[in-house]
Amino acid sequence: MSRHPTVQPLHPAPAPGTLALVLALAALSLVASTSTTPAIAAGSNALRDACFAAGDLAGRPDEKSPRKGARGFDRAEPARTLAAFAPVPPHLRGAIRRVRLPAGEKLVALTLDLCEQPGEIAGYDGAIFDYLRREGVKATLFVGGKWLRSHETRTRQLMSDPLFEIANHSAAHRNLRLLSGTRLGDEIEAPQRAYEAVREGFAREQCVAAAGEAAWRGVPKRMSLFRFPYGACNAASLDAVNDAGLLAIQWDVSLGDPWPGQSAAAIAREMLSKTKPGSILIGHANGRGFHTAEALPMVIPKLKAQGYRFVTVSELLAAGTPEVVPTCYNLKPGDTDRYDNLVTALARNAKPRATGTGVATPPAAKAGGGWTPTVKR
Ligand SMILES: [Zn+2]
Repeated sequence: MSRHPTVQPLHPAPAPGTLALVLALAALSLVASTSTTPAIAAGSNALRDACFAAGDLAGRPDEKSPRKGARGFDRAEPARTLAAFAPVPPHLRGAIRRVRLPAGEKLVALTLDLCEQPGEIAGYDGAIFDYLRREGVKATLFVGGKWLRSHETRTRQLMSDPLFEIANHSAAHRNLRLLSGTRLGDEIEAPQRAYEAVREGFAREQCVAAAGEAAWRGVPKRMSLFRFPYGACNAASLDAVNDAGLLAIQWDVSLGDPWPGQSAAAIAREMLSKTKPGSILIGHANGRGFHTAEALPMVIPKLKAQGYRFVTVSELLAAGTPEVVPTCYNLKPGDTDRYDNLVTALARNAKPRATGTGVATPPAAKAGGGWTPTVKR
């Protein structure tokens, strides 16, 4: 529809070297809505509530578990012209693990991955989202491009909810260290296409018009954050992600929830002992986070009682100085390189609590770069 053109004009060119201006691509619409239309305050539920009844939002037990053998969404995401972006500037190129905050600021970002591989439809752990909504806890959701398409209604709900920020978790959860050329590019770019296509379809709904322009401007035109599957990258894939205008977001606290033997109590202990101001926490909400839904209510009230506030990753980045390192890892450099041989690595690691990843994808190609984003600058 004409009010929401598919191709957006390039935002005013940011002066290189400032985080605020990089984040402006993601935050511009929200800022604009709050500054020009006081009736719609930041964090308004106007869009969500115009489009979805409470019963629609509630999780259902039957959609929690991944379904294997479902190939309906394995097809490639159709080509489209993406929203304009700028490559990540030099000081933010690399893997962002956490954020240094001014003294006294106790902000943290909970992130939840929604990974989906070929040949399956992954789950939606509704109990997690029900809890976060009930308690008003913000989270950033790293969503696979396939998941985004196989769960379009859930995606629209999450898009319309000011508690949640949606980010890119690759197309089909392949190890990007093993890809090059267009295969690497597609894992990065296809989810951008999927997000923008879902947003465009959503924009045509009557409820969006009813909610008003100001509410719609709270839905970012593009995703601006990326998380590598298995937390594994190399220089070429990290460059490709940054060249595509995406900040690479790792973590400094892992819930360890992809391990089936993990307990809610252990997740809670880990979160309580490791979380610091500026932390980025990783868990899973695609049905492969074991006891995550049970653990969050055990620990989030305690962190809040200690003075912590949960914000999105973009809000956390804007509040301080991101800690950027040259490579991707879980606890120490090199510890995710083992996923270059995924089958062997998973077999040897009966307790893969360190990964924050999920399950295996077969290796596909030799490492290397050579991919250039096809999007207009
Ligand atoms: Zn994942």
